[in-house]
Amino acid sequence: MTWTERFKTSFDQYLDFFIEQFTAPSLSAPITMIGAAVAFCLLVEMTAPRKRDWGVLDRQGLRLDLLYVVWVDLIVWPAGLFAFLAATEAEATKVVHGLGLPDPLPFTVASLPEPFALLVTFLLVDFAGWAAHYTIHRVPVLWRFHKIHHAQTTLGFASTRRFHFAEYLAFRSFLFVPLVFLGVSVDNYVGMIWVLTFLAFLSHCNVKVPLGFLNRIVITPDNHYWHHAKNLPKPYGVNFASALCIWDHLFGTFHLPDDEPELGIHNDDVPTDFLGQQLYPLLALFRPDPGGSFAAGSSRTESPPAYEKESATERNRKKRERAQRKR
Ligand SMILES: [Zn+2]
Ligand SMILES: [Zn+2]
Repeated sequence: MTWTERFKTSFDQYLDFFIEQFTAPSLSAPITMIGAAVAFCLLVEMTAPRKRDWGVLDRQGLRLDLLYVVWVDLIVWPAGLFAFLAATEAEATKVVHGLGLPDPLPFTVASLPEPFALLVTFLLVDFAGWAAHYTIHRVPVLWRFHKIHHAQTTLGFASTRRFHFAEYLAFRSFLFVPLVFLGVSVDNYVGMIWVLTFLAFLSHCNVKVPLGFLNRIVITPDNHYWHHAKNLPKPYGVNFASALCIWDHLFGTFHLPDDEPELGIHNDDVPTDFLGQQLYPLLALFRPDPGGSFAAGSSRTESPPAYEKESATERNRKKRERAQRKR
């Protein structure tokens, strides 16, 4: 089967599955999960808001965010992500054959006993997510796509879906290639993504609850808000986790002080409307970059620009403020 044939078959299969969710609703259907996540998040945002003045149902940007939830979960997913992944899996398997490697490879995740296979799959998918997210922040042309997510100055549960469609289709499929070689199937991969989706909704909630040590282990609003900090605590940002914070701890990108960050990006040139945002990184590909980000040596102009090492005076001032608040 060619790539296109494989894409088309998978597209039809997923579309049937997608329609089935509405004709025969079940608890495990992705759409039920999104509905449950939205309902739960709304409830917690109303009960324990982090920023009361942002509002819940009248939060600035909420309507655009909800449009993004529909766009990503009801259009981008059924209209291609599954098909892209399935076609990628088929192509990667062809490469395994082409290289004369045994199929399945002798040490694949699938060959492990069941509970371990699940755990290893989860760790691999989660690490791949961390690595891809970090790369997107590091590589100027990719950052332009992701910048849409970071241009938000208030956050709420639905903010999690403010993404460019290419970030879903191209990046997720690309990041899936190494996992194919390790024996992760598209079905398991998609299953894990649905778990990550729930966490993604929760971590963007405008909610403040004392989660204690959990803030150091899994993605939560406390640590993910720092990922959205306008003034980056470290070059390229911090807290890139999709689920577990272990990768941030391992690679030195974990950051969780007591204070609250201001959200957004510096030199914000991201349009505020949906169409403008979807066109923004694509148009940028065809015009000479004002900051010259494609020129050698100037790659940082399009990267998150706001990393400024805090001066000792500034650090001491913040410490004093924190101490005063505690008293
Ligand atoms: Zn990010
Ligand atoms: Zn986010």
